[in-house]
Amino acid sequence: MDRRAIAVRGTVQGVGFRPFVYGLACRLQLGGFVRNDSSCVSIEIEGDASQVDQFMAELTSRPPPLARIEHVGWEPREPIGDRQFRIEHSMAGLAGSVSVSPDVATCAACLRELFDLTDRRYRYPFLNCTNCGPRLTIIRGAPYDRERTTMAGFPMCFACRAEYDDPLNRRFHAQPTACPDCGPHLSAADAAGNPVTTDDPLRWFVAALRDGNIGAMKGLGGYHMVCDARNASAVVELRRRKRRDDKPFAVMVRDLAAAEALCDVTAAERDLLLSPRRPIVLLQQRPGLDRDLQGVAPGRSTLGVMLPYTPLHHLLLDEAGDTLLVMTSGNRSDEPIAYREPDVFDQLRGIADLFLTSDRPIHVRCDDSVTRVIGTAESPIRRSRGSAPQSIPLPIECPVPILATGGQLKCTFALGDGRRAIPSHHMGDLDHFEAYRAFERDIALYEQLLAIRPRYIAHDLHPDYASTRYALARAAREGILSIAVQHHHAHVASCMAEHGLTGPAIGISFDGSGFGPDGTIWGGEILVADLRDFRRAAHLRCVRMPGGEQAVREPWRMAVAHLDDAGVSCAALEQRRRQGELQTIRRMLERRLNSPVTSSAGRLFDAIAALVGIRDVVTSEGQAAIELEALASTTDPNGSYPFDITPGLQQTAPFAIDTRPILHGVVTDVAAGAHPATIARRFHDTMVEVVVTACTRIRQASGITDAVLSGGVFMNSLLTEEVVKKLGGAGFCTFRHRLVPTNDGGLSLGQLAVAACTAAESIRG
Ligand code: ZN
Ligand code: ZN
Ligand code: FE
Repeated sequence: MDRRAIAVRGTVQGVGFRPFVYGLACRLQLGGFVRNDSSCVSIEIEGDASQVDQFMAELTSRPPPLARIEHVGWEPREPIGDRQFRIEHSMAGLAGSVSVSPDVATCAACLRELFDLTDRRYRYPFLNCTNCGPRLTIIRGAPYDRERTTMAGFPMCFACRAEYDDPLNRRFHAQPTACPDCGPHLSAADAAGNPVTTDDPLRWFVAALRDGNIGAMKGLGGYHMVCDARNASAVVELRRRKRRDDKPFAVMVRDLAAAEALCDVTAAERDLLLSPRRPIVLLQQRPGLDRDLQGVAPGRSTLGVMLPYTPLHHLLLDEAGDTLLVMTSGNRSDEPIAYREPDVFDQLRGIADLFLTSDRPIHVRCDDSVTRVIGTAESPIRRSRGSAPQSIPLPIECPVPILATGGQLKCTFALGDGRRAIPSHHMGDLDHFEAYRAFERDIALYEQLLAIRPRYIAHDLHPDYASTRYALARAAREGILSIAVQHHHAHVASCMAEHGLTGPAIGISFDGSGFGPDGTIWGGEILVADLRDFRRAAHLRCVRMPGGEQAVREPWRMAVAHLDDAGVSCAALEQRRRQGELQTIRRMLERRLNSPVTSSAGRLFDAIAALVGIRDVVTSEGQAAIELEALASTTDPNGSYPFDITPGLQQTAPFAIDTRPILHGVVTDVAAGAHPATIARRFHDTMVEVVVTACTRIRQASGITDAVLSGGVFMNSLLTEEVVKKLGGAGFCTFRHRLVPTNDGGLSLGQLAVAACTAAESIRG
């Protein structure tokens, strides 16, 4: 006889782990118990030695689908004659440093029930089990059990309670379990939020969509706006009401076949579409894509597609049949998505013609995740619903618990504890007070849920980011240490952390902007970095941004700045813009009026986009660069532009990439009437050469062969693929983001890694 005490760590609570252990122990005729403890699942087993070994093997080889085992430890115990196996109650009141599962798409077993006429949950929009359903979005506090979720107001009926208490049932301790007798229900409301009486709110809702109305529907982490994607006037009207100019809308389709009818789907993309995370996946539109659909993603060659992830979505798409549905976030412009009644009726007033809502409250607002495949690997754009709060292993240990507060736009925060980082869901743009309030509240919630009390706070170097102000105020209030992490160092460290690297590495960080330690705006940086520190090894040539932020919204201003810097002029641009405004910009540049200095790669892409005539003004971030990439992708490589290497700015870096010859080349091509796609492609290939040349120089001096790509510009898949290919060809090991976004949504992970390193050093010192 053998007895062992086993501790299993990882995502092992709220994922059906205890019933799995119970079933396994019973099958192997072992005695003992299983229990959720503060930081692990504790198991003791007793029985025949070979059966005990078998138990250990199966414990890790076939865990339930949502469980993520990070560590299994065990020690021998004296046998006590245990014959029965039992599930013991959790230690009361223990808030555990355990992982919380993200929200999970409806599982196959639940989906079968949903459409099974004989099942008691037939067509019930809120069914779920231990393998699927809401998690993060309904949690109010720790530990995770029904009383601390938004399901607390729905006492279980007798039948649900019996399933919940049965260790062999797949609803054993499924905290959000419910049925039509005891759970939440759908309801309908008119444009003003007044209840509408109808037997079937779902059918009523879909019928209205077919008539061209715009609906708001309560989902898992907030409201979606829904309309008929093929009804051009409804789509145009939705854009107008949401004050959303050209930004594409996503669609939700019922299954993979429906996605394939619209877009080309590769194997990697299929896996993402079908994964329990159910993100929006950006797919390549099929050549013959419905002309009617043009308004959904104007000017794009991609389309954001997702599959249903709640029972309600499955019912909705079943009801909608062949009607294709736009599903976009329920908000006005860039405000945070609406998620609460009755506020939602005010927030979406004038946008929604009708509401499909329910009485299950959402506690944590959580946007859809957005992702895509570059090459054959995932490259996340927004890591949120379905992924958060899944942890990511860190290459170094946090010596104390750490909070990293992220950036300003696309903000996420992250908590670190031991070897794990827990990046939050997408908090959005902290300029919005609502988003900032959620940021404060959700930091507190995560700290409580994960039982992490930070002793160290990392933040961006930018003094005006709301996340920086939060970090500094809190550090002062609580008497804990804070550390500022330079924006591009955080980008590079984020990608390094993902890949388990500690450096030194060559970090290519191209993005729109980040605060530089020299007070200029950085954004075209090549760093030599480890997790502790960095030096600026090279940067793109600095130019001025006439009008500051205004130059971000008006790429033609950046074109003028770059032309002025290069000492050339572009006749096409001169003709397009009014003489007066050109003069104003030139005067601003000359007198250095409200024209900060930047090395931004994003602004260089903007300038080139304006020069080839793509657009002078953008309505959304990165729009001009996205269109430049789309254009470049339509043609094959056909040469590139020259560039020079010059000394770096004010000795902040050994060298700079002189972009003036590039401008000369582009202007010459424009004047000669070269096709815009040719110029766009040549420019992309030039930037690839810039990266390879700079990295090669740095390698010569330092011997470093790891190259890490990070920053919003690497959302550009053409650039990314070519850089990875060419750097590989030149003998570099190249790393790019696969787990967190390359844009500012990934900053918090990098800040955390840098802070962990800094904290370790200061503790040692
Ligand atoms: Zn299920
Ligand atoms: Zn029930
Ligand atoms: Fe950035």
